[in-house]
Amino acid sequence: MVLRKGLLYQLMSWAKMTPLVDQVLKAYGRSEQVKIQNLEHTEKLLRSLVSSGPQSLQVITDFDATLSRYHVNGKKCESSYGVIAHSPLVTKKVKDEAIELFDKYYPIEINVSMTAEEKTPYMIEWYEKSHDSFLSSSPRLKLSQITEMAKDAHVILRDNSHKLLKTLHKANIPALILSAGMGNLVEEILKVNSVNLPNVKVIANFMKFDETGTLKEFSEPVVHVYNKNEAVLHDDHTAYFENLKSRPNVILMGDSLGDVNMASGVQEASAVLKIGFLNTHFEEHLPAYMESYDVVLVDDQSMDFINSILDLVIYDAN
Ligand SMILES: [Mg+2]
Repeated sequence: MVLRKGLLYQLMSWAKMTPLVDQVLKAYGRSEQVKIQNLEHTEKLLRSLVSSGPQSLQVITDFDATLSRYHVNGKKCESSYGVIAHSPLVTKKVKDEAIELFDKYYPIEINVSMTAEEKTPYMIEWYEKSHDSFLSSSPRLKLSQITEMAKDAHVILRDNSHKLLKTLHKANIPALILSAGMGNLVEEILKVNSVNLPNVKVIANFMKFDETGTLKEFSEPVVHVYNKNEAVLHDDHTAYFENLKSRPNVILMGDSLGDVNMASGVQEASAVLKIGFLNTHFEEHLPAYMESYDVVLVDDQSMDFINSILDLVIYDAN
């Protein structure tokens, strides 16, 4: 049987057939939104994921504009930092400073002609200035206010994210949310959406509060878009990946070019299927995204494509 299967795959590669890619595209149904640079390579990755099954799989996903939607009917959703910075619960001074910082640094973050190394010092500067702004505010934020903000936030999970997270939970597949955003808010958003499940871990920037529940400091080192690969290698997180040693296959999801390196903490990684959500600047950014990600989903505000893959991995695994 194994031999016959091997022969079948050999024949398929001669004929350049991609039955698993085709199957996922058919189940997904919106193939015009899917861009794949190397069909054969993607087929090979899918074949590894399906043949090794759910017990070999882990998921690593970005949060802002990946697990959450980029827009709803054309109206841009907020990021986890944005929710806090724009909340009526923070002072006008913090709000004004946040806008000023965003206007200065966001164009650098999404500039496709700068390298990650060139961007990194600017990203760190952005976070440090933003954190200083929160810490110098009077009064300082309270932990209870973060919970309140999450309830009112214009952060909407991508369609069928609930299905995705619940499927992963049911199949015992660990999911890591690796975010350059504000972890406290990400966790609260998961709670509001009833998907704060035990198989989900969040690595992000966290506000730390004193015994009165008042903001005291921020976690270090800063996790920004272009150091996620190093952030996961921090001592605090090695145990997480050590425990997942038996899961060398990864479905990775991100919306920024920096997200493609999020699986760097995975020990002896085998098949890493990288799925990128291209949310904006479609024509301008598509070539760079196709270069970095195995699959690029253009303006898809759902998790349907990934759910179709999971259906194959979990239910069709042989
Ligand atoms: Mg993002």
